[in-house]
Amino acid sequence: MTTHPLFDIAGRTALVTGSSRGIGHALARGLVEAGCTVVLNGRDPRALEKAAADLGGGTGVAGVHTAAFDVTDGPAVAAGIAEAEERVGPIDILVNNAGTQHRAPLLEFTDDAWRQILDTNLTSAFLVGREAARRMTTRGHGKIVNICSLQSEVVRPGIAPYAATKGALKMLTKGMCADWGRYGIQVNGLGPGYIETELTRPLVEDEEFSAWVRGRTPAGRWGRTEDLIGALLYLASPAADFVSGQVLYVDGGMTSVL
Ligand code: NDP
Repeated sequence: MTTHPLFDIAGRTALVTGSSRGIGHALARGLVEAGCTVVLNGRDPRALEKAAADLGGGTGVAGVHTAAFDVTDGPAVAAGIAEAEERVGPIDILVNNAGTQHRAPLLEFTDDAWRQILDTNLTSAFLVGREAARRMTTRGHGKIVNICSLQSEVVRPGIAPYAATKGALKMLTKGMCADWGRYGIQVNGLGPGYIETELTRPLVEDEEFSAWVRGRTPAGRWGRTEDLIGALLYLASPAADFVSGQVLYVDGGMTSVL
């Protein structure tokens, strides 16, 4: 097998937030398969141990490590990243993936639910991104990939707060690119379409909605978590060294059609 050297990221170290399951776990798997040392993150240490075992190693084995911390908690983020770097060395690649979804009409959306979705989907990327970038700037290189959404671009009834967080995450991506480019850090977004995970299970199980997704997607199907790996590996690789501030949509074409 030959791979162009521009796509070689073997030996790099990556932190993937929210990687105990779903998209984050699949992205972590892709990075491990590309030869990276990967730090898995989530709030539940036991779920992380299981996730690490699924990737072929327990904690600290086979290049897979775990760091349990809440990405919405500033001091916990700072301590978690400091501790992870002590164990595995400098983090070259950060994937801000942790996120949540709460579907409800805006008129019924509570203050608490609003703050929670903003904290989890947007403030988290600021807190983790700032902490990682403080370290990357001193080294003069780094790759940050923020997991946006097709809802960074479009919105449907009942999902306005989620779309607001993902639209803002797109602009935070561009702002990070503007601020940190001079330090050799590239910051991009990856925008999944409808992907089957625990988060979207209620939608997958709703046959009417599920059929709507298939019908609206030029590719004619729901996305799988594995569909996102290639785009991440590209954005994390030297092939994307002059690509920054972009969002790469991996949505089977959905954001391009009416
Ligand atoms: P899941 O709910 O399956 O996984 C979410 C992950 O985030 C879990 O590992 C969870 O672990 C972790 N997490 C949640 N809150 C926190 C927190 N406060 N601190 C640390 N970790 C946290 O979601 P998906 O895999 O479906 O989604 C992943 C990302 O992709 C999200 O940002 C989502 O918005 C985005 N996305 C998903 C799409 C889809 O169709 N599935 C489409 C577009 C974007 P734990 O609960 O143990 O902390």
